[in-house]
Amino acid sequence: LLVGIVAGLLLYYATQLLVPAADRAAPNLFQSRVLFWSQAAVYWAEGFGKLFLRLMFMIVLPLVFSALTLAVVEIGDLKKLGSMGLRTLGFTAILSISAVLIGLTLVNTFQPGKAISEEQRIALSEKYSTDAEKRVKQSQQTKPIRDVLIDLFPENPLQEMVGAVDGSSKGDGMLAVMVFALICGMAFTTNPQQAAGFIGWLEGLQLVSSVVINFAMKLAPVGAGCLVFAITSTLGFDILRVLASFVLTALAGLALHLFVTYSIVLIVFARMSPMTFFRGSAEALLTAFGTSSSSATLPTAMRVATDDLGFPPRVSNFVLTVGATGNQNGTALFEGVVVLFLAQVMGVELSLAQQIQVVMMSVLAGIGTAGVPGGSLPLIVVVMQSVGIPGSAIGIIMGVDRILDMSRTTVNVAGDLVIAACVTESERKIEARNLIASQRPENPA
Ligand code: ASP
Repeated sequence: LLVGIVAGLLLYYATQLLVPAADRAAPNLFQSRVLFWSQAAVYWAEGFGKLFLRLMFMIVLPLVFSALTLAVVEIGDLKKLGSMGLRTLGFTAILSISAVLIGLTLVNTFQPGKAISEEQRIALSEKYSTDAEKRVKQSQQTKPIRDVLIDLFPENPLQEMVGAVDGSSKGDGMLAVMVFALICGMAFTTNPQQAAGFIGWLEGLQLVSSVVINFAMKLAPVGAGCLVFAITSTLGFDILRVLASFVLTALAGLALHLFVTYSIVLIVFARMSPMTFFRGSAEALLTAFGTSSSSATLPTAMRVATDDLGFPPRVSNFVLTVGATGNQNGTALFEGVVVLFLAQVMGVELSLAQQIQVVMMSVLAGIGTAGVPGGSLPLIVVVMQSVGIPGSAIGIIMGVDRILDMSRTTVNVAGDLVIAACVTESERKIEARNLIASQRPENPA
């Protein structure tokens, strides 16, 4: 990655030096050679970067459909598991929504994506926008709110699936696909026995998607290096400044959520001191930071929850297993931040309705994300495209994703443990209430 950044900067400044702007219109032979070779280097590096992105893009549809449908099927099972499942779901919703709101507030306040010159903004949006994506942008800006709501429900789900990718959808593209997945999930839960075959197929599809993401992540150092090279060699140092403020904003949001939101939730709902919590969960949080994967951290988190934090295994095993893929509020926060940041960079104005759409989709995407390194990246593309930001623009942040992935995974795992703490406390209360009720003398009626 560093090689990509340094090589990109060298190329940018060397080209500026050898071919000053004044000579660009009529370069001499040497200068035209320099221009040719520098453009060729960027062209091929970008090509490889795009190939790496395509590995993720190609599984967006199967992943979104399978992950969301299965999430609902699981939630259907949760209902059967009774109040513990519902409470887990409730805490997940509270934590995810507050996470996204923190992220969006920070990006709106600090506007990290606006620290770029108008010229560069135009260059970037020209680079990434395709006609189809521009069409999506225009059609969404002019739609009345009633039609936005109606279009959430696809008339032809297959058409929406194709349209979500190439911009030709009649409705809301990916959001409509998500709604379709939710409805399918609900339908499956009415008769899980008969739907078992189809659910198994979806599980297979989800597994395949995770394997492809893993494969893409193996290419990530080179792929992300190429993308960073292509950007820095066209925009110079400025883009690094913008990226640094993006990283700081995202880290500030994650830190706020980790230390402030979680502490409040722990004190109010779990009656537990945040100090005790963080000291007890340190091993799991470090594992999450090191592996960038909630799923890989699951065994450590389970052990820490029972051994160091003293939660009953019945509660923590359930909450942590569901949470490893279903409760990813660090990821949800990050998704909101990325989408708004890239909108600022690309000069896409998001209306209030579109920002609300980002919140909704980020929460859903947080639920649907696989707990593997980079698991959220394909879903971020989905949220971006739904509000008219070209999906390939995610290449802008790929170079700095690893450190953010490590950080958001830590927040994700901490979130699962926080929910386990809250559910443990509420279980304790219910048991205490039942005990008192059972000890009360019978009414002598
Ligand atoms: N790496 C994250 C996790 O496993 C998912 C993501 O945000 O990419 O929790």
